[in-house]
Amino acid sequence: MQILDGKKAAQAIKDVLQIDVAQRANEGKKIPHLAAILVGNNGASETYVAAKVKACEETGFKSTLIRMDPDTTEFRLLEKIEELNADPDVDGILVQLPLPKSIDDKKVINAIDPSKDVDGFHPMSVGKMVEGLPTFLPATPYGIMLMLEHYKVETKGKHAVVIGRSNIVGRPMSILLSANKNPGNCTVTICHSHTANLKEICLQADIIVAALGIPEFLKADMVKDGAVIIDVGITRVEDSSRKSGFRLKGDVDYDAVAAKSSWITPVPGGVGPMTIAALMKNTYNACDTKN
Ligand code: NAD
Repeated sequence: MQILDGKKAAQAIKDVLQIDVAQRANEGKKIPHLAAILVGNNGASETYVAAKVKACEETGFKSTLIRMDPDTTEFRLLEKIEELNADPDVDGILVQLPLPKSIDDKKVINAIDPSKDVDGFHPMSVGKMVEGLPTFLPATPYGIMLMLEHYKVETKGKHAVVIGRSNIVGRPMSILLSANKNPGNCTVTICHSHTANLKEICLQADIIVAALGIPEFLKADMVKDGAVIIDVGITRVEDSSRKSGFRLKGDVDYDAVAAKSSWITPVPGGVGPMTIAALMKNTYNACDTKN
């Protein structure tokens, strides 16, 4: 069993970006600028946004964190996005999800200028992704593809099973894994909460991407020997021995599944850091294509 170390792979990507940004600065060119909007004070969202802002700083990007009250109206948030769309200094706009229930997240995503849609959630970006055209790919599935590429995991002709069909992870993941690219070229089965015989389907998989948000859902008896396991899940579970009062759990029963797998991502330190590296790459490209 080998570890798909997301921290290492993400660092390698950020190191290249740092050199590229320094070179842009030397040439007097514009530095990539990510604007992140955080509505409310959800603990997990705070952590994710802080990690994104920190990665920007470390890599030499400019970043702006815009905090909005939990009772911010949809109108006010849309106004803020319009402001950022019109600001030529801002290259990428990220709205941390989930948003408060009173706000329609589809309306918000659709309001982002597609040329600044570094999370890759705008319908225009999604459409281009499906067509295989150059675009911003959604950060988590893109990060997973970068990780498979980094560790030279063979995907061509493999059977990949994706568990979860959300618009931000499962569905785009299935599209990227089935694309006529390398990595890609898998035969993909997408499973969800209404899938019958999930265990039997998983047992046929060469690659499993678990993205459902149920801690330790994927057990060793659902995995064939030598499978590649990508664990996207992050759930905070209570742990009184920790200062924070919680620890992070993935969707995979790690120790038992690791013993059967050829490659596996840990949680934390797997898909999470790759998501950030992918976001940084999108932000760099957003800047580079215009400036
Ligand atoms: P979601 O809740 O939007 O979607 C969950 C999906 O799982 C749904 O499509 C549902 O059909 C499926 N599902 C639920 N129960 C199931 C079951 N018993 N069997 C099969 N399928 C089932 O979640 P999401 O936004 O896609 O996120 C999934 C997980 O990934 C969460 O833990 C989230 O925190 C994590 N996540 C991690 C990153 C990262 O950077 N590491 C990024 C995004 C999401």
